Amino acid sequence: MKKLKFKNGDQLDAIGLGTWKSKKGKVTDAVKIALNNGYKHIDCAATYGNEAEVGAAFAEVFKNGKIKREDIWVTSKLWNNAHLKDDVIPALKETLKDLKLDYLDLYLIHWPVAFKPDAKNPKGADDFLSLEEAPIIETWEALIEAKKQGLVRHIGVSNFSKEKLKDLISKTDEIPEMNQVELHPYLQQNELLEFCSKHGIHLTAYSPLGSGDRPDGMKADDEPSLLENPVIKKIAKKHGASEGQILINWSMQRGTAVIPKSTNEGRIKENLMSAGFQLDEDDLREIAGLDKHFRYVNGKFFELEGNSYSNIYDE
Ligand code: NDP
Repeated sequence: MKKLKFKNGDQLDAIGLGTWKSKKGKVTDAVKIALNNGYKHIDCAATYGNEAEVGAAFAEVFKNGKIKREDIWVTSKLWNNAHLKDDVIPALKETLKDLKLDYLDLYLIHWPVAFKPDAKNPKGADDFLSLEEAPIIETWEALIEAKKQGLVRHIGVSNFSKEKLKDLISKTDEIPEMNQVELHPYLQQNELLEFCSKHGIHLTAYSPLGSGDRPDGMKADDEPSLLENPVIKKIAKKHGASEGQILINWSMQRGTAVIPKSTNEGRIKENLMSAGFQLDEDDLREIAGLDKHFRYVNGKFFELEGNSYSNIYDE
């Protein structure tokens, strides 16, 4: 398994299990299957609404003693309605309580967007806080404080463009160690990759398989399928691998972590086995040609007339 190395010597397994959209009745088993079959990296978030069920899996696997807390890496994310500096640590403590852990390996600011504390899912522009009311640097300083208190080992961000990272870096001595963003052959983000690598910021690729199980309201009618792409299918056939494994392997070959979501036992195992072959130069060239700047998870839905968020991705 490829590993991402952190400045303090900690190492993160490149392949992790995603848990967004994993149903409450299925996610405990999915996490148990993953951990019992060699996953050491689980990606969570308060807004997924299933951290208590993920935590039930942790409690169970730790109880039988074969897997210890320090053997695994748990990431979670601060939701947009807890950006105010006094709200960050209480939100983190809620996540820790649900996950039944006393520390996280990595805590991320989920989006560079703030909602009012009582607006988990905003209905309109009035439910947002402006950048002046909730400056990202203050949220970030609260994450730094959480790290000082030992509640998290590493801190980072998610869905940050190069410009937003630059802005944050210019205001702090503590550079984010991770940026978790959508990355796959249709959204290769080469400039962001280069910028992060120059600044020692790791990347995690989310929706690496095309996020097939998003609710209908979040899907474009004509969205392209990654798993059905003829180039991906051809390369899969050539390596005797599945299409999912090609996509996961490609992410790893670019040096990023990658967190495919599955609650299906066979696919959970299959995804972890994506490291057993090497994509060659022809494969990489063909996949490079697939980029079309297409997002499955489009944060532009946060850009409402009357709130202070426009051009989330600075593109
Ligand atoms: P993925 O790209 O991981 O796709 C998940 C879908 O692919 C599910 O329908 C799953 O079904 C299916 N699937 C899984 N493995 C395979 C396989 N080998 N072959 C074919 N189909 C497969 O989507 P996500 O959007 O869930 O992204 C992954 C994770 O990234 C999330 O779960 C979350 O943890 C994180 N994320 C973070 C975001 C952020 O803002 N920071 C935003 C979006 C995601 P099944 O379960 O039935 O196997």
